[in-house]
Amino acid sequence: MPELSVVWFRNDLRLEANPALHAAQKSGNDILCLYILDEHSHAIRQLGGASKWWLNQSLKTLADQIENLGGKLHLVHAKKTSISEVFRQLIETYDIKNVFWNRRYGKAERDVDTQVKDDLKSRSIQVESFNGNLLSEPWQVKTGDGRFYRVFTPYWKNLKANVALPSFEENSKVSYASIEGENLSDWSLHPTRPDWSKGLSETWTPGHAGAIKRLETFFDEHLIGYHENRNRPDQPSTSGLSPHLAFGEISAADIWSRTIEYMENHPDAVPDGWAFLREVGWRDFSYNLLYHADNLSSDNWNQKFDAFPWEKNESALNAWQRGETGYPIVDAGMRELWYTGYMHNRVRMIVASFLCKHLRIDWRHGERWFWDTLVDADMANHPASWQWTAGSGADAAPYFRIFNPMTQGQKFDPNGDYVAKWVPELKKLPTKYIHEPWTAPTSVLTDAGVALGQTYPEPIVDHKPAREAALAAYAAIK
Ligand code: FAD
Repeated sequence: MPELSVVWFRNDLRLEANPALHAAQKSGNDILCLYILDEHSHAIRQLGGASKWWLNQSLKTLADQIENLGGKLHLVHAKKTSISEVFRQLIETYDIKNVFWNRRYGKAERDVDTQVKDDLKSRSIQVESFNGNLLSEPWQVKTGDGRFYRVFTPYWKNLKANVALPSFEENSKVSYASIEGENLSDWSLHPTRPDWSKGLSETWTPGHAGAIKRLETFFDEHLIGYHENRNRPDQPSTSGLSPHLAFGEISAADIWSRTIEYMENHPDAVPDGWAFLREVGWRDFSYNLLYHADNLSSDNWNQKFDAFPWEKNESALNAWQRGETGYPIVDAGMRELWYTGYMHNRVRMIVASFLCKHLRIDWRHGERWFWDTLVDADMANHPASWQWTAGSGADAAPYFRIFNPMTQGQKFDPNGDYVAKWVPELKKLPTKYIHEPWTAPTSVLTDAGVALGQTYPEPIVDHKPAREAALAAYAAIK
């Protein structure tokens, strides 16, 4: 029986620039590539529907790549058995010498990993973990007096000066173990009855090659001008790398070094290149917050928000989820999300603000809906961004910043193209009215085939009183 090194893949579904895999390659043992679908560790947040779709595609791609190298991606579904038990069974069956993985940063995930590490060590298995997903780990970027950062700008200044990129030596003499596990198709990750994934498969190519293609297209077509254009949902102006990053099909370090190299060869791209890397830095900042919170997706970072008078309003929540609020930019965003599993960042901020402030619905309801429908649902970026918008987060939007859906639409979708694409019932409206159809004269509405309340909803709340009520509610907990 050959000696094996196990690589336990989690949010790092790539063979390229993968520190855990690299360590296994250096061990000289045959490599057993392992993926465990963990439905046993109850504290760990389960994937939403859109993420399951992505995971299925991504695992297929990874498994194909490993097969081309002569091995197999070994799949185990941990439902009734714990992760420690999964490893115990593997150890009893095979000659496993060491186990490598890339670190996770949420408390529940860290607890599982610590338990597994202790179990493995007690069985004399060597265990080593690595930074495979961040530019810098949460305990590395600290203030002068050793505390962690709660504000992004000084964090970024520090991070930017201290990014330490891993290096990888090529090792061509690697042998992959080919041990049959479970069938991916038995995990039912792909939606059926109904299969709602058409828009997802039209939009995305999960896997490392898809990530590299996105990055190259972004460099060729959208990097120059990114700083200005990144707020425009009507144009393909951003990288679209977020789901690839969420599943670790490409690492932030790899993006960093490729962007630096691109800037060296294209000096005119330098300001936009740094604007782009700054956003990637926001991702590290979110992980810094995740690491220092017990539960970022359920607990207000700012505990004053525990007293916030949220409204319970099922019908408004349903209208928001379905993209039927009567506010065109909000509805366009929610429909883009439903169809593609993605929403442009500017529009995410608008729709999230609308839910928390205009409707005064608890941010956790929106967070859960997005978690289920986003392909890039990320355990750090996601709750951190929701808390930022709601005002309850660490470095949060001030409570009095209430996005005006009409002026936001007019500014960032000036020709109404984004609304026309996702809310086609409004596409014949003149640009002047597309972001506030209720202001259009009846004859204009009739000519455009719009009957408010029939073909398209009337606004479910009035902007001005909703804004005032939000300000009053926020003032009460200040
Ligand atoms: P680009 O502009 O090309 O940026 C490159 C990368 O930088 C992104 O892929 C992402 O990893 C990171 N990034 C960009 N903006 C932010 C940001 N504001 N905060 C943290 N990282 C950022 N991002 C997620 O990755 N997953 C989520 O689940 C998620 N949920 C969000 C929920 C809300 C309510 C809001 C307001 C934002 C959320 N974001 C989330 C942040 C942001 O909207 C997305 O990262 C971005 O839209 C992804 O598109 P892109 O890859 O084209 O971004």
